[in-house]
Amino acid sequence: MLEDVNEKCAVVGIYGNEEASKLAYFSLHALQHRGQEAAGISSSDGKKLYTIKKRGLVMRVFDERKLKTLTGSSAIGHTRYSTAGDDSILDAQPVFARYDLGEMAIVHNGNLTNAKEIRDKLIDEGAIFQTFMDTENLIHLIAKSEKRRLQDRIIDAVKKIEGAYSLLFLSRTKMFAMRDRFGFRPLSIGKLSNGGYIVASETCAFDLVGAKFIRDVEPGELLIFNEGKEPQSIKVFEPMPKHCIFEYVYFARPDSIVFGQSVYQMRKNMGKELARIKPIEADIVIPVPDGGVPAAIGYSQESGIPYEMGIMRNHYIGRTFIEPTQSMRDLKVKMKLSPMTETIKGKRVVVVDDSIVRGTTSKRIVRMLKEAGAKEVHMRVSSPPTTDPCYYGVDTPNKNKLIAANMSIDDICRFIEADSLAYLDEASLLRSVNAKEETYCTACFTGKYIV
Ligand code: SF4
Repeated sequence: MLEDVNEKCAVVGIYGNEEASKLAYFSLHALQHRGQEAAGISSSDGKKLYTIKKRGLVMRVFDERKLKTLTGSSAIGHTRYSTAGDDSILDAQPVFARYDLGEMAIVHNGNLTNAKEIRDKLIDEGAIFQTFMDTENLIHLIAKSEKRRLQDRIIDAVKKIEGAYSLLFLSRTKMFAMRDRFGFRPLSIGKLSNGGYIVASETCAFDLVGAKFIRDVEPGELLIFNEGKEPQSIKVFEPMPKHCIFEYVYFARPDSIVFGQSVYQMRKNMGKELARIKPIEADIVIPVPDGGVPAAIGYSQESGIPYEMGIMRNHYIGRTFIEPTQSMRDLKVKMKLSPMTETIKGKRVVVVDDSIVRGTTSKRIVRMLKEAGAKEVHMRVSSPPTTDPCYYGVDTPNKNKLIAANMSIDDICRFIEADSLAYLDEASLLRSVNAKEETYCTACFTGKYIV
């Protein structure tokens, strides 16, 4: 699929460890796949909050000298993919504010669906906003609350917002983690081996910093981290789980445990299911790297068709400011993906991808494989057709750009110039990830929105 759909952000929080900002920095490295536009960390030494945020990749934003200025035993961090708001530095997180109870910083993964309504009301009441981020609403709601403790103000504020949020708040002495009642976006807690806790969007951050997974923050739960105490849990909302199934399809790193299950194993299951319900006679199974790799392994294991590396991905390409012209329209994909001609030539190839969004990338891949000598190219997709945009923290193109919203599967097959095309359907996707329809969000495949 390659960049047609993007997770908006990742969050991480460290509490009770003297190397809090360094651990947040390393965790953000592990979470970089969830946002590459900007990165930031706020830390607290118990007296004051310190914040550094900037556009760019985590390794560009921070260095040893900067991390040394982020002192203290607690820190929260964020990587951003710009969507709600824009990509200016003002819209990087953490969002920092001084208010009547002191100082606070917030990081947010998700999207608030009633953000405009709340913002308009706050502006009518005299609030001034510095950014376009829905996260800034929370600062105002917390500042306006008449409760005396921050934890009560957070509860007041989240009762007014709707949508998807995994939030971390940092005050001078405490850290708070809050997840919406649907648990759209993942958020897990771990124990650091050298003292303290970590809370992060994905458990792949835990492995890097030597933390042991404890559990997920429950949907609707507020967790309060306070010095010398076990984290305190408050059930703010009755949980009504609607986890984002796209985390399994594409966003999360395969080495993470998300919603209690191994992402790699779930993707392999999807490939196996695809082989069972959409078999085809072929000589080799190849993945579209990197997203299609686990599902292609599963497809190969179930079908008995040998797995091969048929496409190489160039990981060092980064962003190019030279957009290929119409006459060089295949260049962009070729810069990233190259065919392994000797593997492909004369073969009937099953190529497995995690999804098809606009269809243009798939078309270029099929062409590339045929130009490399493939006898037949059969595209297999380990998710259902993407027909609807996401409003819960994922950047998807408008409906008119989603190929499956505008074409039948046969038409898409002709458009991408494949010999055959098949997708998983919703029921088989849910079966592959051991999920019940009532506890997962599948809106981008079904249009059934919950909020
Ligand atoms: S609409 Fe799709 S991407 Fe968005 S939360 Fe639901 S399943 Fe995930």
